[in-house]
Amino acid sequence: MNALVLHGGASNKIELRERVEEFADIAFREGNALESVVKAVVLMEDDPLFNAGTGSNMRLDGSIQMDAAVMIPGNFGGVINIENVKNPVLVARDVMLKSPHLILAGDGAIKFARKMGYEYYDPSTDKAREKRDKIIEKLKNGEIPEYYHPKFFLEFLGDTVGAVARINGKFAAAVSTGGTSLTLRGRVGDSPIPGAGIYCGERGAVVATGIGEEIIKRMLSINVYNRMGEMPLEEICKEELEKFGDVPVGIIAVDENSECAQSNLTMPYAIKKE
Ligand code: ASP
Repeated sequence: MNALVLHGGASNKIELRERVEEFADIAFREGNALESVVKAVVLMEDDPLFNAGTGSNMRLDGSIQMDAAVMIPGNFGGVINIENVKNPVLVARDVMLKSPHLILAGDGAIKFARKMGYEYYDPSTDKAREKRDKIIEKLKNGEIPEYYHPKFFLEFLGDTVGAVARINGKFAAAVSTGGTSLTLRGRVGDSPIPGAGIYCGERGAVVATGIGEEIIKRMLSINVYNRMGEMPLEEICKEELEKFGDVPVGIIAVDENSECAQSNLTMPYAIKKE
């Protein structure tokens, strides 16, 4: 059975679930694992209610740097800290399919995007500006300690987006994010790190959301992938999430015959099967 699973970010409003379901319906029609996950992510990048593409979080200095990645068995494409493009996930797909590299970062990623025809685009929104202003205010008032605990981070967490698919026996994964807020320019989260925020192989596909630093330390996505087949997928995801204690995290995954979406806080998601 074909399946597509989407998430709109750990900590995002559960009311967005209907919208995510609509996006799943549209993306599923692509009828191809890679194209379906990419389409799903593009739809969420274009919606300012999600923290990816338009609507991405701002860094403390007011800049917007985005990370995105795609993965299929045996291949990967990612962009790190890309700026001023509308759809980072499309650039990530081009890195995988049209460049000799797997990951491009910073100004090199931007130059590559322009070469591939992606025009200048400003993804900033009032929502992102207001969120940053609130953080700056808190910093000025001394309400944020120098070394904060990730739990404290919660109100500044992003609403990163991701999708995994199993279509006609093929797996694919895609992810895109403006990163968590309260971060320095240049910070890189889990999303574009294979094995951490995304993984896809012959046995399935996994995408994570939540505090990127914690997800990288635990290599969440490849851990879930490596355990596929050991027990029901949902149980694996639950066990891996439990290891994070109260650090906000979410996972979506598909294996050969099941799919799951799990989070330890609200996470709008959709599971489309046919
Ligand atoms: N994992 C993302 C990051 O740390 C944020 C998120 O999932 O909302 O960049």
